[in-house]
Amino acid sequence: MPRVLVVGAGIAGDTIALMLGRAGWEVTVAEIAPGLRGGGQAVDLRGDCREVLIRLGLLDEVRTKLLFQRGAAWVNADGHPLATMPVEAFDGNGYVSKEELLRSDLSRVLHDAAGPEVTHLFGETVEALEDAPNGVSVRFRTAPPAEFDLVIGADGAHSRVRRLRFGPEESFRRPLGLAHAWFTMDETPETPSIDGWFLTHNTPGSRSTEVRPGHPGKQEVGFTFPATALPPRHDRAAQLALLDKVFADVGWRAPEFLVAARSAPDFALDTFDQIHVPTWYDGRVVLLGDSAWCASPLSGLGTALALRGAAELADAIEAADALRLPHRLSDALVAFEREMRPRALAAQRLFPGRVRQAAPRTEFGIHATAWLIRQVQDPRLEKVFRRLMAGRGHEVAA
Ligand SMILES: Cc1cc2nc3c(=O)[nH]c(=O)nc-3n(C[C@H](O)[C@H](O)[C@H](O)COP(=O)(O)OP(=O)(O)OC[C@H]3O[C@@H](n4cnc5c(N)ncnc54)[C@H](O)[C@@H]3O)c2cc1C
Repeated sequence: MPRVLVVGAGIAGDTIALMLGRAGWEVTVAEIAPGLRGGGQAVDLRGDCREVLIRLGLLDEVRTKLLFQRGAAWVNADGHPLATMPVEAFDGNGYVSKEELLRSDLSRVLHDAAGPEVTHLFGETVEALEDAPNGVSVRFRTAPPAEFDLVIGADGAHSRVRRLRFGPEESFRRPLGLAHAWFTMDETPETPSIDGWFLTHNTPGSRSTEVRPGHPGKQEVGFTFPATALPPRHDRAAQLALLDKVFADVGWRAPEFLVAARSAPDFALDTFDQIHVPTWYDGRVVLLGDSAWCASPLSGLGTALALRGAAELADAIEAADALRLPHRLSDALVAFEREMRPRALAAQRLFPGRVRQAAPRTEFGIHATAWLIRQVQDPRLEKVFRRLMAGRGHEVAA
C-alpha cells in the first residue's frame, strides 16, 4: 500500500488525509500542536466548501453546527450602528452569509471522519526531507525516520515543509500591511449581548475592534491593526503588550477585550499575508492550502480553497492511477497545479480597497466605508458590485 505523509492537521491536511485514506492510501498526519487546534472564527459553506463537503458526505453533519447569526454591523464608540448588512443581503451571500460555522467545528468534523487507515501524530513535525530512490525519506522531530511515496505540506502560511524544500518564508510572503489577533471570550452576566450580530468598531489609525457570535455563552473577538512584523509567536506577553499599546485609546468594548485576551486559551496573533510560490511541487513533495497559496483571511476564501485544493489533488492522484503506479505521482502533481492555480490566483486578487475597508485610516474613511456598505445593498447598484467582484474567486464560492 503506498504511503503518504501529510504535514498539518488543518482544513487542507485533514481533508486530503480523509480523501486519500478512502482511496486506499496509508496516511500519516504529523501535526505540531499537541491536539487538534481549536480557535478561529466563522467560515461559510458556500460554493466550493459545500460542494466538497457533499462529496465527502459530511454536509449534513456540518450543518448541525451552524452559528446563529443576524448579520454584520459597523458601530460607533457608543455602539450605535453606522451601517448594517443583514444575512439576507445578496440572497444570503453577503459579508456574513446564511450558513456559517466556527472553523474549529469544521476542522473537528473532517478530523473525526478519518478511518483507521489514517494515523495522526500530534506534537510532531518534520526536521528533514530527502529524496530517496522511490519516495521521500523523512526525519521527524520525535518519531523514528520513515520513507513515504508522497509528502504533502499542509502546514499553513508559515509552512515548515515549504521552508525545508522550497526556500525561506520571506521569498514567498507578501504582507498586506495589517495584523489580526483573535480569541474566544466567555460571556459573564455583565457581558453585553451581541444577539447574533458581528460588530465592528473602527478607529482612526486603521484599528478595528470586532466581536462576533461563537458557541452559546461565548463571543469571538478580533483586533485588526497596521503591522508587517510582530513579536515572536511563542511570546504571548510581548503580543499582549503590543495590543495594549495599539488599542490603549480605543473606546467601545476594547478595554474589556484586552482584559479577556490575557486568559483566552486560543489567543492567536498573525499578520495578514499572501503566499505566492512559483511552483507548488518539487519531486514528491507538494504544498497544499495556505502553505502554497494563502490568499489571506481578507479574501474570505481560505477554507473554500483548502477544501477544493484537497479535492483537486485527490482527483489528480486518482486520475494518474498513482495508487497502483506511484511513479506517476509527478504527472498528478503537474495536473493538480494546472487545475488549482487559476482558482488560487483569482482568490488572491482582492476586491479593490479591501485592505483599507477592513481597517480605515481616518475618521472620514470610517464614515465613507459605512456609506459604501449602505450603498452596495441598494438593488440598483448590485450589478456594479457584482462586476467589481468578478474574477476574484467569489464566483467559485458564491
Ligand atoms: C487555529 C487556527 C485558527 C484560524 N482562524 C481563522 C479565522 O478565524 N479566519 C480565517 O480566515 N482563517 C483562519 N485560519 C486560517 C484558515 O484555517 C486557513 O486559511 C484555511 O482553512 C486553509 O487551511 P490550511 O489547512 O491550509 O491551514 P491551517 O488551517 O492554518 O492549518 C495548518 C495546520 O498545520 C499545523 N502546522 C503548522 N506548522 C506545522 C509544522 N511545522 N508541523 C506540523 N504541523 C504544523 C497547524 O497547527 C495547523 O493545524 C485559522 C487557522 C488556524 C490553524
